[in-house]
Amino acid sequence: MVLALIEHQDGLVDDLSLQALTLARKLAAGEPLHALLVGDGGRAAAAQLAGQGVESAHAAEDERLAAYAPGAWAQSVIELVDRVEPGAVVAAGTNRGNEVMSHVAARRDLPFAANCTTVGGGSPLAVTRVRWGGSLLEEALIHGEPALLSVAPHTVAAATVDGTEAPAVEAFSPTLGESDLVVQVAEHVGTVTTGVSLAEAKVVVSGGRGVGSAEGFGILEELAALLNAAVGCSRVVTSAGWRPHTDQVGQTGTKVSPDLYIACGISGATQHIAGCKGAKKILAINSDAEAPILASADYAVIGDLTEIVPAVTAELRKAGGP
Ligand code: FAD
Repeated sequence: MVLALIEHQDGLVDDLSLQALTLARKLAAGEPLHALLVGDGGRAAAAQLAGQGVESAHAAEDERLAAYAPGAWAQSVIELVDRVEPGAVVAAGTNRGNEVMSHVAARRDLPFAANCTTVGGGSPLAVTRVRWGGSLLEEALIHGEPALLSVAPHTVAAATVDGTEAPAVEAFSPTLGESDLVVQVAEHVGTVTTGVSLAEAKVVVSGGRGVGSAEGFGILEELAALLNAAVGCSRVVTSAGWRPHTDQVGQTGTKVSPDLYIACGISGATQHIAGCKGAKKILAINSDAEAPILASADYAVIGDLTEIVPAVTAELRKAGGP
């Protein structure tokens, strides 16, 4: 038996969970497939699981589950695992899916394989998974019972099976302690977006530690405005609080694929390149001729970005824009 953790919002099943469910169904290979939906709207979301081959849906219900709390979700998974004894638990490789499964793994002292792309079979369970921000695929064996895994987003196409109805829903109330609720979502704050979005921009002007300060991004914003570009940044920049996390490009940020990626004062760590390697062209502006980013760049200007970026902007203005 295989158990799939299904994420949902306002009664709607998340697309990435449907992808995970497709892999879970393959793993079940005809054995029963169960689904777990945690919190408000779980029953409504379960009704959308028609055509997914899910035999039984379990809704974890408690008013304290209204706001996402990774510990409480993990406790819900653990209680259900103890009851239905699946051979594997599958989640979507989202921030939440990976976080909850990590809690489950830690509490049960089990291994967890995050971001799998395929499952083989057997015991220990053979899987292939994405590592190093997508730069390599690893073949691994999960030595654990149940096997805990998540499915890398967009690596499995969500599919349906003919003739299966929405599963019957069985509700249960997990036993939650205070420690399960130490971390929980307190507030949703909308992001302030101006202009073109980072993920869809044709040109991204991105800054790293070399920009020097939050104010230093002024010259990058000026250039970006001329190019109808989005402004991105490295993790050093978000960690320093110079820019919001929504601007971060990389393994733990947004993955971008613009026509042109202008990296200003960014060294080119593998975790950063994981987010911008989809760009058609990369222009690096860096004072260090040995910076690793030059290995990924199509063009480079070696020098101080505080001189080069305003000079490029001035030239573009003279030429009447791009
Ligand atoms: P540095 O590496 O400090 O580089 C600064 C660069 O600026 C240097 O090349 C320097 O020559 C240049 N410079 C300095 N002054 C000037 C100047 N005046 N003009 C021109 N150039 C100048 N990082 C990400 O970016 N995104 C991620 O998603 C991400 N995820 C991570 C996940 C994990 C698990 C880990 C461990 C790390 C992750 N990192 C990520 C961090 C990553 O390893 C690097 O630390 C980070 O990318 C470095 O940022 P940087 O290039 O801005 O800074």
